[in-house]
Amino acid sequence: MVEFSLDLNEEQRDLREWVHGFARDVVRPAGAEWDAREETPWPVIQEAAKIGLYGFEFLANTWADPTGLSLCLSNEELFWGDAGIGMAIFGTSLAVAAIYASGTPDQMLEWVPQCFGDASDPKVAAFCTTEPEAGSDVGSMRTRARYDEAADEWVISGQKAFATNGGIAEVHVVTASVEPELGSRGQAAFVVPPGTPGLNGSKKLKKLGLRASHTADVFLDEVRVPGRCLLGGKEALDARLARAREGRKAQGQAAMRTFELSRPAVGAQALGVARAAYEYALEYAKGRVQFGRPIIENQSIAFALADMKMEIDAARLLVWRAAWMGRNNRPFEAGEGSMSKLKAGEVAVAVTEKAVQILGGAGFVREHPVERWYRDAKIYTIFEGTSEIQRLVVARAISGVYIR
Ligand SMILES: Cc1cc2nc3c(=O)[nH]c(=O)nc-3n(C[C@H](O)[C@H](O)[C@H](O)COP(=O)(O)OP(=O)(O)OC[C@H]3O[C@@H](n4cnc5c(N)ncnc54)[C@H](O)[C@@H]3O)c2cc1C
Repeated sequence: MVEFSLDLNEEQRDLREWVHGFARDVVRPAGAEWDAREETPWPVIQEAAKIGLYGFEFLANTWADPTGLSLCLSNEELFWGDAGIGMAIFGTSLAVAAIYASGTPDQMLEWVPQCFGDASDPKVAAFCTTEPEAGSDVGSMRTRARYDEAADEWVISGQKAFATNGGIAEVHVVTASVEPELGSRGQAAFVVPPGTPGLNGSKKLKKLGLRASHTADVFLDEVRVPGRCLLGGKEALDARLARAREGRKAQGQAAMRTFELSRPAVGAQALGVARAAYEYALEYAKGRVQFGRPIIENQSIAFALADMKMEIDAARLLVWRAAWMGRNNRPFEAGEGSMSKLKAGEVAVAVTEKAVQILGGAGFVREHPVERWYRDAKIYTIFEGTSEIQRLVVARAISGVYIR
């Protein structure tokens, strides 16, 4: 009989402390510089690789935690350090998660190590699914993959948008429509190996936040990849397409589940940003004197901080619940994965905004990190499904009605 407990075990506490130390000593001090440079922070990625925080082994260890919390703990700490650098380090895990979700064991063995490279020469990977005309509406994807049977090759053409690490990645995982009439159920994911001709990235997009993280469009012009690059293999794809043609839904639901599973970890990133801003504002409010007393002695400031702390803790409970449910195969009957990312994302936006307010003019200038955290937080109501799309998932789940 396992008793209910929210205590972290020793391993989880050690992991949290270790990642926090790296975030405090290496990531946080570098945050402002890489934000201003708007460049991929390769030296920091390399540092992370050297200590074992960037690489397949680290990800496998966190995934192995039977409570599901380790990935959330490490995400929260790293992104507490800096979200732009955090994304530069953890962006690769999106592609790795896609390989894990759909790949065969052989494909994992072949491609996952290449996603990371090694400590002496780290690499990054990209997961490219969004398109200029297919953001929230994934089913309207225009990128096509056709099979050239004679050559046993897939030929992929199309354009991807906003891809994290797009164009600078060693390995690109690209989704494409194989049978457009089937909508999202006619899609498949492909690995595009390093150096494949026909794949090109745009120049890095200039962004509101997460500026250290590389985001770019990706153009695929008759990109030929070997048959073995279809994740899951051709036999499984053919069986899935046959089921979809008959109108059976199981696989579509499986894809939804994969998204639901990754959302708590993204929520944990948002929590890291929110916590950073809350802690900074709390200290500032104790030190800043106006009208002869620290500003925290005003209820309006102290209550705002109390609300910030409460909202962060509430969001964390939703994140941990969803992570635990996902890891232990509990069905998300009320869209709990989406709920966790939705709440954490909106808390990050609200808390960082409040933190700017508490710092007053100091919150608006770059001498303090709060303005950067405010800019960074906004992404969490947009990517990995916007807040509106998360609400759709929850609303459909609780009502059973196909709400639009
Ligand atoms: C920094 C960054 C990194 C990213 N990284 C990646 C990546 O690595 N890989 C990748 O594939 N993508 C990535 N994305 C893309 C991201 O996932 C999309 O931007 C996101 O899914 C939203 O799609 P969209 O931008 O086309 O917005 P749209 O879908 O055009 O939405 C515009 C607005 O309409 C709302 N809306 C749309 N449909 C509905 C509806 N049915 N009901 C109510 N409201 C609706 C949306 O919520 C939003 O407010 C990234 C984006 C950014 C900014």
